[in-house]
Amino acid sequence: TRTPLMAGNWKMNLDHQQAIQTLQKLAWTLKDAKHDFSAVEVAVLPPFTDLRSVQTLVDADKLEIVYGAQDVSAFTSGAYTGEISPVFLAKLGVTYVAIGHSERREHHNESDRLVNAKIKSALGAGVIPILCVGEDIDTRRAAAHVQHTLLQLEGALEDISAEQAKTIVVAYEPVWAIGTGETATPEDAQEMAEAIRGRLAELYDRDTADAVRVLYGGSVKSSNVASIMAKPDVDGALVGGASLDPEEFAKIARYQ
Ligand code: 13P
Repeated sequence: TRTPLMAGNWKMNLDHQQAIQTLQKLAWTLKDAKHDFSAVEVAVLPPFTDLRSVQTLVDADKLEIVYGAQDVSAFTSGAYTGEISPVFLAKLGVTYVAIGHSERREHHNESDRLVNAKIKSALGAGVIPILCVGEDIDTRRAAAHVQHTLLQLEGALEDISAEQAKTIVVAYEPVWAIGTGETATPEDAQEMAEAIRGRLAELYDRDTADAVRVLYGGSVKSSNVASIMAKPDVDGALVGGASLDPEEFAKIARYQ
């Protein structure tokens, strides 16, 4: 059985001081609600410059909230100005890293090939990739969304073993639903999550497919999360805007 994962992608929001306030409030709210972290994992993905502060707070207050980064270098060290090594992330206690987010594919021209290299880089340092895939509106209108998303999945997983693939998280984020207030229906989310799991079973085996957590992302709010989480192949959410409000994100994490 897969433990649901509710992850907040802060994107380029919250400096390190705001990060501390937000995380503290999130922790208090979840504690008040007696949240069972072994039943539903909660993660935040702050900007790189917040990670050291987040680590310090998590350690000092023994928080069960885990954290991750929003991107990582395909390399481990060297002359790559401005890049962040997966080894540095691991050293900061980072559990997850989002790879191939649509905003990086769009604004930084990230290809499936680069996404694949970044996944290998993260896995090599023991950081769990949250591989982001999903189609834009034109692709959906052309009814090519499943094919498109599965091609992204295959490209990202090239030369990755079943053992490694088992640990990966896949986030289905239809680009047209990101930051638009337009959520995919629970049926849309289930259709793709099931297709992703089906392709994983073809690429690897049933065990691997059943182990991988598939998240949905795109305008998730406390008012729509429960119906999405009710779908059998959806194992969590990757939340953008709504994760910046700790009370709202706590509600989402508890999907009430
Ligand atoms: P929103 O929740 O703001 O639509 O963003 C989704 C997302 O891109 C999470 O990675």
